[in-house]
Amino acid sequence: MNEKDKQEYLDYIFSRKSSNKRNFYKESLKEIECFKKEHPDRSPSIVLHVCCIVCACWPIDFLKENGFDVTIMYNNSNIWPKEEHDHRLNELKRYLKERWHDEIPLIVEPYDYDTYASTILKNRSNDPEGWKSCFGCYAERMNHAFAYANTNHFDYFTTVMTFSRQKDSQKINEIGLNLQKQYDHTKYFVSDFKKANGALKSEKICDDYCLYRQDYCGCETSYKERHPKDA
Ligand code: SF4
Repeated sequence: MNEKDKQEYLDYIFSRKSSNKRNFYKESLKEIECFKKEHPDRSPSIVLHVCCIVCACWPIDFLKENGFDVTIMYNNSNIWPKEEHDHRLNELKRYLKERWHDEIPLIVEPYDYDTYASTILKNRSNDPEGWKSCFGCYAERMNHAFAYANTNHFDYFTTVMTFSRQKDSQKINEIGLNLQKQYDHTKYFVSDFKKANGALKSEKICDDYCLYRQDYCGCETSYKERHPKDA
């Protein structure tokens, strides 16, 4: 990064510590109440983008407890290597079978890390985790699932990524709200799944079902940052 980029990044990190943040958890509860008032006769349908079961298990419970008709999309060409992508997917499938008896539809999109790496991730090795390359990586996968939701007339789209403590939920919600402008039917469901003890609830579910907990975000760079000896 050059000096200007460094300063921009430092300003962003500083802004993340600001207390002047929207409470997207409270906003999500309000949205649920509004939908119930407007549509007392039916459940809201939602496409939920899922990147791993650790981030997904509590959001699935939260949405189901609040009456959502959930469809999951696993579209994560950011995950390296393919064995890791498939392992995370298999853990998701196992959980959906054991906990939800396969009642939640799961859409799995084709995996193409090489194309993803040469386009969306091409600057990732110069960017720290949680900066512009990551924003592009969130947006790409969110937009793909959002487009599916809109084409198929779902009421809402959202992503489990606001669960992660490593990710900026303010930024993810900002991306979701911006993407919404392109779509004429589906609304972005704002969220902050880590709130209201989301992390503790996820930990308990992960323990109960012996779910796999990965130690890096997904791409090859994030793997090497966590495992410098393997780099
Ligand atoms: S660290 Fe995670 S969010 Fe960032 S570019 Fe890599 S896979 Fe995408």
